[in-house]
Amino acid sequence: MLAAVFRGPGDLDVTEIETPEAGPGEVVVRVGANTVCGTDVRILRGEKTRGVEPPVVLGHELAGHIAEVGRGVEGYEVGAPVAMYPLLQCGRCFYCLRGMENVCEHLRIFGNVENGGLAEYVRLPARAVERGNLFVAREERPIEELALAEPLACCVNGLEKYRVEVGDTVVILGAGPIGLLHLQLALLSGAREVIVSNPSEPRRRFAERLGATVTVDPRAEDLPEVVRERTGGRGADAAVICIGKPELVNEALRLVRKGGRVNAFAGLSGAGWAEVEANLIHYNEVLLSGGSNCRRRDFETAMRLIEERRIDTAAMVTDRFPLAEAARAIERSSRSDGMKVAVMP
Ligand SMILES: [Zn+2]
Ligand SMILES: [Zn+2]
Repeated sequence: MLAAVFRGPGDLDVTEIETPEAGPGEVVVRVGANTVCGTDVRILRGEKTRGVEPPVVLGHELAGHIAEVGRGVEGYEVGAPVAMYPLLQCGRCFYCLRGMENVCEHLRIFGNVENGGLAEYVRLPARAVERGNLFVAREERPIEELALAEPLACCVNGLEKYRVEVGDTVVILGAGPIGLLHLQLALLSGAREVIVSNPSEPRRRFAERLGATVTVDPRAEDLPEVVRERTGGRGADAAVICIGKPELVNEALRLVRKGGRVNAFAGLSGAGWAEVEANLIHYNEVLLSGGSNCRRRDFETAMRLIEERRIDTAAMVTDRFPLAEAARAIERSSRSDGMKVAVMP
């Protein structure tokens, strides 16, 4: 089968590798779509090396149809549309035992360590099948919509940390795919106003179409001033950082009211340092949280939200590439005029 193998920084080799077969307890999925994530861009550029073990087939946002079911596997039928939860945990570390499986100490991620979705087929080891890494869709639908269950699930996990209460004003810093998912989740959670900030005009238009109350070009407008104006001078109830720019951490702390919540959702490249005025946290009693990966329960929530069309993932896929052009697809996704790029083997 054809697969996009990551061999090292800058080296993505689209080549023939052995087609996986389902051994006892295993399932093989024929990939219909694998959407490209910022993490894939960072891996290919060599900016993310932690937890990545080349050579490996890249891609962790994937959906497709069950192609083969191994001996002893029950509950899965060939041909069923599925999305795959891409984390494999140990199940017994401190964090797994406390419901934080997303930060398991022995995490193995498909597309980082296990072969991922930028391939015609992906094999789920017995451990992944047993633990329920396959989520079957209730009905057939455009497969790229289901591939977005993974990033949506990560946002659902983040949302739990910064909470949105009915009537809240929420600021989303960044209108890339992740920002737009947080925007939709905030609205669904009862936010009265969602202010989205992004320097790209097409992305701001996108955010408006998906329900943003106001969009701001931070280069041309004074975002803190806009937020103060709309909140009686207090600041927003919550702010979510959806771009990996270090200076945004402090900016977000300045955008929220006393007792407000800030979520550092986006990972920062390199060492990840950001300078913050810690007194903002102290005097304003700001709650600062993060969000890494997702739990199975978030994935299940994401699947249902997509299936019931409560979250629009269809609109977010703006580009489609064949597998042979995987490198171009990843390059394309790092540009700011499109939204989500899907590779469709
Ligand atoms: Zn991702
Ligand atoms: Zn664990």
